Amino acid sequence: MIVVLGAGIAGVAAAHFLKEAGEEVLLVDRSDVPASGGSGAAGAFVSPKIGKGGPLQELTNDAFAFAKDFYRKLTPHAFHADGVLRIPKNPEDEVKFESYETFNYRPYERWDAVKAREAGLRDVPGGFFFPEAGDGDAREICRTLAAGVPRRQMNVERLERKEDRWLLHGPQERIEAERLVLATGYESGLLDLRYLGIKGLWGSRGDYATSRHFPISMHKDFSLSSSREGRVKLGATHVKSPEPCRVCDGRPLASLEAKAAEITDTSDFRLLETFCGMRSTSRDHFPVVGPVIDVPRMLEESPAIVRGAKTPLIHFEGLYLLNGLGGRGFVFAPLMARMLAEHITRGAALDPRIHPDRLFWKWVRRVGPQRDNGVGR
Ligand SMILES: Cc1cc2nc3c(=O)[nH]c(=O)nc-3n(C[C@H](O)[C@H](O)[C@H](O)COP(=O)(O)OP(=O)(O)OC[C@H]3O[C@@H](n4cnc5c(N)ncnc54)[C@H](O)[C@@H]3O)c2cc1C
Repeated sequence: MIVVLGAGIAGVAAAHFLKEAGEEVLLVDRSDVPASGGSGAAGAFVSPKIGKGGPLQELTNDAFAFAKDFYRKLTPHAFHADGVLRIPKNPEDEVKFESYETFNYRPYERWDAVKAREAGLRDVPGGFFFPEAGDGDAREICRTLAAGVPRRQMNVERLERKEDRWLLHGPQERIEAERLVLATGYESGLLDLRYLGIKGLWGSRGDYATSRHFPISMHKDFSLSSSREGRVKLGATHVKSPEPCRVCDGRPLASLEAKAAEITDTSDFRLLETFCGMRSTSRDHFPVVGPVIDVPRMLEESPAIVRGAKTPLIHFEGLYLLNGLGGRGFVFAPLMARMLAEHITRGAALDPRIHPDRLFWKWVRRVGPQRDNGVGR
């Protein structure tokens, strides 16, 4: 049996593909409902990345191409491909849009200010419109993907490798697994995973009632969704934080409301609900997907690695990660989960851009295990 620990979008997507590959899967989370962590806060906008090309944009856009079809097929009631208009953040960004065009995901349309006005936006120079992009109901997507996968509610306090299995220790009971996928988001304290540099990025989004009709979603340095049943989503704030900020100024969405009011009439927006959660980023902002290095054993058996000695990497048996999805968990999770499932079940090679090993040597030599106290995890 394979246990997937964490029922956010990463965990439920992994469970989906493992089950599809014929594996017996158990989904474990401390909550009895999926998406109780960062995933439940997400606006779940699923759109391509714009920019001047490069490996992260390419990977993101491959993931986008996969994700939109995945949600349309598996969660059609909870994903709305109304299109997303990418608007320049400021006049400097507007100039850069010219150079971004070559690297744009296709299909896209170039919109001008008139077209943007028809979509309900004012003082906007236009931008790139991606007709296949959209947004989803994050909790419903996770609920639907988790349906049909056996689940257990347990707060896992400790992991132990005993003979050929993993033991997941909870307060009163324990679960045994032949193989284990860790999809725990920003909480990475169950093992020494400092080499990944997992950091939390706290954020809030809000759902608002409005009588206005927005036919499409838009993204500037915040996102406003298309309207559905008199409701829009406004997201999201970005606060670097090692811990969830349980205390805020009471108005976490004030900055987003001010930004939205600059580009559309928000006078009848009435806040219905605020959602807050933690994103999880890796040191290089790429996802981390694949086997896990046994750091304590490597340091014990080869202490000279901190001074540059090369030795073969030692991985834990039967242990895998799916993490570091950052602010694009709903874009990345389906493709990353499928790649991981193919690796676990068929031994398929992992894309080096997402393989966790890429982060180890830099960490061990440049950051140094002695100096890294893991603050920020
Ligand atoms: C405000 C906000 C807006 C966002 N908007 C978007 C967006 O529009 N589009 C997009 O693609 N992404 C968005 N994101 C990012 C996206 O939400 C994350 O990338 C995604 O949620 C990461 O999913 P995850 O499954 O890795 O982590 P999580 O959703 O945090 O899931 C981790 C799970 O592990 C469980 N867990 C952890 N430790 C243990 C333990 N010891 N025992 C038992 N259970 C455990 C937790 O309970 C949790 O359910 C947004 C994030 C935030 C916060």
